Amino acid sequence: MQKLLEKIYLTNKEAISKGEKASYIPALAKVSDSLGLAVRDHSSIYTAGDTEFKFTFQSISKIILLLVALQDSNTEDLFNHVGMESSGDSFNSISKLDFTHVIKPYNPFINSGAILVASLIKGFSYQEKLKKITSLCETIFQRDSISFNEEVFTSEKNSAYRNRALAYLLKEKNILKGDVEEILDLYFKCCAIEVNCIDLANLGYFLSINKHSTIPNKHFQIVKALMLTCGMYDYSGEFAVKIGLPSKSGVSGGIVTCVPQRMGIGVFSPRLDSKGNSILGIKCIDELNKALHLNIFR
Ligand code: GLN
Repeated sequence: MQKLLEKIYLTNKEAISKGEKASYIPALAKVSDSLGLAVRDHSSIYTAGDTEFKFTFQSISKIILLLVALQDSNTEDLFNHVGMESSGDSFNSISKLDFTHVIKPYNPFINSGAILVASLIKGFSYQEKLKKITSLCETIFQRDSISFNEEVFTSEKNSAYRNRALAYLLKEKNILKGDVEEILDLYFKCCAIEVNCIDLANLGYFLSINKHSTIPNKHFQIVKALMLTCGMYDYSGEFAVKIGLPSKSGVSGGIVTCVPQRMGIGVFSPRLDSKGNSILGIKCIDELNKALHLNIFR
């Protein structure tokens, strides 16, 4: 495994400057070019490249929001507020949300859905809600503290015109309840959690084994099904056909992949394709998949 990761790293690192970094959050455009890979299986963790390099969680945090919200409401109630269908639209799409027949966001992994999911997390204060999220992250990453990239948080908060439009549209339609700005702050704060590839491999592994004292098996199944169908934005269908592994991407360039009952994979490289997925991230996962026959439909 170690040799395979190093080989994949070496063959791909030449291309680390191809593609564009996300720039709609200005602080993300400043991240340096890098490539890191990590795999966690039942016995060990394997790494290659810039695996200690810290980047922001972004959309991958939608997995944690969903896990926490599922614990706070029953499954049926949660899916009364947010759907479970892939939208076929980009992650920040607003167009379909404004149709009168649309009574909930398509799924928890597009921005409108994740903002709604964030609003379902219960707590007496913003801090208490955030604590639920960071505590779960600490367990999954096997760390005793979680840090935030305050520059990315502020940069996103100050330029989030589209997310603010989504949230206020949900509020106007009476789908979103509560203080919109506080809900958005919780959402931005989760996107600004600092992680590295090893954290993502640990997350993938955590999702793969379905074992936790307070998270029921059913919640793990829901999260993985949604990762497979909606986790890679409007590339999810093609990714499922070509790679066939539950995965979740973030605009900072991270991808977490889960090989059920077998391993977790974390990849980071900040240059993105037109859909917002890490170009080298997808390539490295594809190569690992081909070498190890990981596709769940094989
Ligand atoms: N913070 C980002 C946003 O809301 C997350 C999007 C993403 O990673 N796709 O726009």
